[in-house]
Amino acid sequence: MATAIEYFKLLPKTNCKDCGQPTCLAFAMLLANQKAKLEDCPHVSGEAVEAMKESSAPPVNTVKVGTGENAVAMGGENVLYRHERRFENPIAYAVSVSDSWDAPRIAEAVAKAKSLAFDRVGMVFRLDLVSVSNDSGESDEFLAAVDAVLADWDLPIMFEINDVGVAEAALSRHAALKPLVYAGETADVEAFAKLATKHGCPLGIRAKGVEAAADAAEIAAKAGCKDLVLDLGASNLKECLEWQTIARRAAINRKFRPLGHPLMNRVGCGEYAVATAVLSTLKYGSLVVFDGLEPYEALPLFTLRQNIYTDPQVPIQVKQDLYPIGDPGPHSPIMFTTNFSLTYFTVRADIEKSKIPVWLQIVNTEGLSVLTAYSAGKFEPERVAAAFEESGVLDKSDGPVVVPGLVARMSGKLSEEIGRDVVVGTNESKDIPKHLREITS
Ligand code: SF4
Repeated sequence: MATAIEYFKLLPKTNCKDCGQPTCLAFAMLLANQKAKLEDCPHVSGEAVEAMKESSAPPVNTVKVGTGENAVAMGGENVLYRHERRFENPIAYAVSVSDSWDAPRIAEAVAKAKSLAFDRVGMVFRLDLVSVSNDSGESDEFLAAVDAVLADWDLPIMFEINDVGVAEAALSRHAALKPLVYAGETADVEAFAKLATKHGCPLGIRAKGVEAAADAAEIAAKAGCKDLVLDLGASNLKECLEWQTIARRAAINRKFRPLGHPLMNRVGCGEYAVATAVLSTLKYGSLVVFDGLEPYEALPLFTLRQNIYTDPQVPIQVKQDLYPIGDPGPHSPIMFTTNFSLTYFTVRADIEKSKIPVWLQIVNTEGLSVLTAYSAGKFEPERVAAAFEESGVLDKSDGPVVVPGLVARMSGKLSEEIGRDVVVGTNESKDIPKHLREITS
């Protein structure tokens, strides 16, 4: 990534403020922190924009598999350690089916892949791709297997093929889905690269070791293919950790483009496969392909991924909305709190414990908790009233409006804003059930 000074050199330096910043230097600092785009300055020249594109590209390419909102992005990384900024695109997980299986067995595997979805703190964790492996070596069997997968799978797919003729047949029919084509270690890299480029699809290549992978990436790049995912062919955990670390350091620290691609691991199934996936999740993998994955393996793995790929600068948030809890009616209490996920789920759990139906209004405080948001001026009575107005909750219920005890001081102003009496609730979420029983008895 370019530095603030490098960006500053390209700007007109007139401090005209048209970008919304007081000076060109302030704008350059936003650019360096990826909080603005060069195009946001209306006076920067087209040549300057072009000049910066190459040097500001992330050291690890971004590769997209699939299309539309379900597309899976891999790579795009700028840092070695998450605390330096953040990791950009979460590692993806795939399970493989074989074209030597019959259609019912493939359907069963796809159904199991779909079942690997978990709801946690308002986010759905799920498997990202299904991969079809050309174990038969035949085109017809492969195409039939892909059809069997697509009958019930609408997320991105991947093809594992060694024969370029089979790959041509598959891409001629399915290139519009932008599948990842993964060529095995013995495949002709140049032929696969030309094919992937012709069809505009990303390519995965496997080569044994860091140097071999860099060589293969250069062959693919010369053939016009830049959307690459590299499998370094590690055969144990030590190789996986060492080689992936070397590749990421070369990409980030030395801007070594042949290794500036997302990394993947093709693993089998069972505990060793999961251990490899854990390692790859922690250290620089962008895709792990399993032969099979059980729910008890997927849940901790997905949770680890969520932890590693959470932006440390952005609190986990829920959407500003009205959340009915326990079928509330026209006289049910109205409660409200901030959109910090932990606050929402804690308050929600304590309301549920009371068994008293409640309208819970969540107010967007940019992920801040109650006292922090109030101190930062993001949880004022006006903002709460606006959220009430947006959801129409005051028309749905004439029940008591409960102000969180920690911000009791907003009661008077809020009462004025909404034209209703309010009651002060508890300081601690755990006391909500008792308080709800008192105000509804
Ligand atoms: S709009 Fe461009 S020239 Fe004007 S202050 Fe911003 S960066 Fe500088």
